[in-house]
Amino acid sequence: MVLAAERGPKVRPVESFVLGAWSGPGASARPIAGAVTGDPVARCGHDGLDFQAMVHHGRQVGGPALRALNFHERARTLKALAGYLTERKEQLYALSTMTGATRKDSWIDIDGGIGTLFAFASKGRRELPESHTVLDGDLEMLSRNGTFVGQHVYTPKKGVAVHINAFNFPVWGMLEKLAPAFLGGLPVITKPATATSYVAEACFRLIVESGLLPEGAVQFVAGGTGDLFHHLGAQDSVSFTGSADTALMLRSHGHLLKHSIPFIAEQDSLNATVLGHDVTPGTPEYDIFLSEVVAEMTTKAGQKCTAIRRILVPEAQLDAVAARLEQDLAAVSIGDPALKETRMGALVSLGQRLDVQQKIAALKAEGRMVFGEAPPNVQGADGERGAFVSPTLLLCDDPDAASAVHRVEAFGPVATVMPYRNVDHAAALLNRGDGSLVASVITHDPALARQFVEASASHHGRLYFNDRDSMAEATGHGSPLPNMVHGGPGRAGGGEELGGIRAVLHNMQRTAVQGSPRLVAAAGQTWVPGAPVQETESHPFTRTFDHLQLGEVLKSDSRTITLEDIEHFAHFTGDTFYAHMDDDAAKANPFFPGRVAHGYLLLSFAAGLFVQPDPGPVLANTGLADLAFQKPVEAGDSIRVELTVKRKTRRTDTYGEVRWHVALFNQDDEPVATYMLFTMNAYDECV
Ligand code: NAP
Repeated sequence: MVLAAERGPKVRPVESFVLGAWSGPGASARPIAGAVTGDPVARCGHDGLDFQAMVHHGRQVGGPALRALNFHERARTLKALAGYLTERKEQLYALSTMTGATRKDSWIDIDGGIGTLFAFASKGRRELPESHTVLDGDLEMLSRNGTFVGQHVYTPKKGVAVHINAFNFPVWGMLEKLAPAFLGGLPVITKPATATSYVAEACFRLIVESGLLPEGAVQFVAGGTGDLFHHLGAQDSVSFTGSADTALMLRSHGHLLKHSIPFIAEQDSLNATVLGHDVTPGTPEYDIFLSEVVAEMTTKAGQKCTAIRRILVPEAQLDAVAARLEQDLAAVSIGDPALKETRMGALVSLGQRLDVQQKIAALKAEGRMVFGEAPPNVQGADGERGAFVSPTLLLCDDPDAASAVHRVEAFGPVATVMPYRNVDHAAALLNRGDGSLVASVITHDPALARQFVEASASHHGRLYFNDRDSMAEATGHGSPLPNMVHGGPGRAGGGEELGGIRAVLHNMQRTAVQGSPRLVAAAGQTWVPGAPVQETESHPFTRTFDHLQLGEVLKSDSRTITLEDIEHFAHFTGDTFYAHMDDDAAKANPFFPGRVAHGYLLLSFAAGLFVQPDPGPVLANTGLADLAFQKPVEAGDSIRVELTVKRKTRRTDTYGEVRWHVALFNQDDEPVATYMLFTMNAYDECV
């Protein structure tokens, strides 16, 4: 461990990565002071990059190389990259300490960022096809006879994604945007915030050194964006994370507006937490509430876009909660983040400290200080030279009359506690933030959870409940997760990131493709009803994944259903529901003409009609989906099956998934049931 006092004077040049080569900082580069010592630790800035060439390089070199890979190949690359970074992450931790971050803070940034790569790698393999397009939703019938149909399709854009990030999570912020764009086939130009650019650059350097990403897939800007926006076009996009003021300035850029260039903003918000009125001292929820508030205020010294800024407490409990929080905040050890015992490090810079102090002054006008008036007792570092602040808790007695507490974000360990009268009042106060990234409610009462969803979900990108049942595994009010949406309406920027495959699709263009079933099937690489079929010459279950053709159909023999079959199935399975057993009762039901066969009996007979029993390339039936029973089947009716190859997706090195469209017909060729069947089929070389 290297303590603040022992750290050397080494000043890292932060370089840009342009057209496949590193470019050093220019003469106008700015020094960056370390958060803990105040000494310069890096220099960042350029004297002018050729942004036009960068955009061109991304579009002409990176884009085609990325689009040559299918989703699974890109996902495998992300996984390899995540592994590569994992093995070298300690060098990032060493730098991260200089930003004021404790080991735990850095873990959120560094391991959190790498974990996001792993998560998208895994989702890409499991949830995206092994191709270049994604189908969105079901086939839409646009004509009476089914000769004209529609399908929504996502395809990669032919532009570049510009990512502009905030200072607080230099690794996570870069990787959580990069992973979905890469998976979606879009080259990236990433720009970190200057204050922590040396950590982002070190991570980016590892990405380049890995040699895993295709040429042109990623470029890095250390310093300003110059005339970059002027070179963007309609296939490009800008994703921004930072303050509301900067977002407003950038999204108003005339060139972006003129060319309808998407601008996605993740900005600050006045996130709140509510202590449910069912929660009293002595319950597990009370302790959860206190520990979540303290953790959110002090983790990363409160420099988290999702941190709790407003604490809503039933009015009868206001003073007791404020007193407990005061006590808990006083116990937080502040100091050199490299020290094990330090729970809260420094803000990123003295400038940031000044900003936080000014915001506290604005908040004080509407409330009183509960904790934080005195300068912090800093261990192992100089409290003046380093950007240390005390956790600060304010109390606002009249949140209805207040304005600043719902509007002013002090981007540090600062929050305001305030009373509420009832659920409606609490929801109204939650919503006064005018759109936030996350709101949390600590309650054990399901009725309360429902009330808050109805009253407040509209105003927040994420609604987090925690209670005794989830507390051991809950991920925390402030943690964005790769599989859950991150972003929020209004003040939070109106953008949306993460949320699993949704994030990948944000980087792609959705197009409504319309035409005959034959053309739409070809466009989506998926057989659809009405598209040509071809009867198989040999049973499809005897052929490997590689030898199955889309649209290839097996037409089975037919089988007559007898009353004995229905009776036997009922008693064998125990399903003696009246519609299968009692003719009069069934007739009284609006759905049935009399006793009918069980739907599951039909499925079982269907399997009996289409399977080929011998060991072969079909390894397993892994499920079915979209099952619909369309017409009842009575004793004396017969059924037959058509099994059509709908879609093929490679899954592992040895087998792939085949989706089959299964249609059951009766003796009059009327559809009786349809569903999609999934099987895992071995490849040629594996049988
Ligand atoms: P910021 O000052 O708004 O800067 C954000 C980014 O914009 C930085 O990369 C900055 O680069 C860049 N930028 C500033 N002016 C620019 C310009 N004229 N042209 C192009 N780029 C420009 O925010 P910050 O201080 O880094 O971050 C703190 C804020 O971000 C807080 O308000 C916090 O709530 C918010 N935040 C939101 C989220 C979220 O997901 N919603 C996440 C993290 C942080 P330079 O550093 O080089 O100026």
